[in-house]
Amino acid sequence: MKCPTCGRPILWNADFPERPFCSERCRLIDLGAWLSGDRAIPGESVDESELPLPDEREPRRDPR
Ligand SMILES: [Zn+2]
Repeated sequence: MKCPTCGRPILWNADFPERPFCSERCRLIDLGAWLSGDRAIPGESVDESELPLPDEREPRRDPR
């Protein structure tokens, strides 16, 4: 196991209460990066073009 922020090896025990981060500092750095959009969650990213149409029950606004 490595700290996602700095890559430092950590152990999954009480010596690393901030796991998977090596320290609270790294945890906050990672959280901040995630909130600012720099980090995508693997498997959670959604391509908006793949989403279904918003609501089939509502009248379409397409100018056709
Ligand atoms: Zn770290």
